[in-house]
Amino acid sequence: TEETLVLVKPDGVARGMTGAILARIEAKGYSLVDIRLVEPDRTTLEQHYAEHEGKPFYEPLLDFMMSGPSVAIRLAGDRVIEGFRSLAGTTDPTTAAPGTVRGDFGRDWGLKVQQNLVHGSDSVESAQRELSIWF
Ligand code: ATP
Repeated sequence: TEETLVLVKPDGVARGMTGAILARIEAKGYSLVDIRLVEPDRTTLEQHYAEHEGKPFYEPLLDFMMSGPSVAIRLAGDRVIEGFRSLAGTTDPTTAAPGTVRGDFGRDWGLKVQQNLVHGSDSVESAQRELSIWF
């Protein structure tokens, strides 16, 4: 089995989509190992998003991620990393496929950061690194 870090980002929590997102995760058959409501400080987010430092959306991204609580989930299951990313859909919510979390629940709101509801680790190495940051 495998583990991944899923975040319901501040837009997802603020819009009351946490339950709907969890329902899709559970319906797919993955297991919730741990779950918590978190208000990350800047240092935590700098670690989490280290690969994006210096990009144009980096500061707006950190501000967005500090705009309200997120729900952090330790999720387990065979091939859960790619499975959750498939459920989430592509990064840009306006064009993410219908049927995905981002495609069904998200769109562009005219901001400098994509408010795309969820994060999911993209590799085994990222998952281990990110889980140790958030849990
Ligand atoms: P994916 O890996 O599928 O692209 P992700 O969530 O892992 O999804 P990253 O590329 O790691 O996306 O970017 C992290 C986050 O930064 C995105 O989820 C989004 O909120 C924001 N972001 C990424 N690219 C842009 C961009 N070009 N403009 C604005 N915000 C962006």
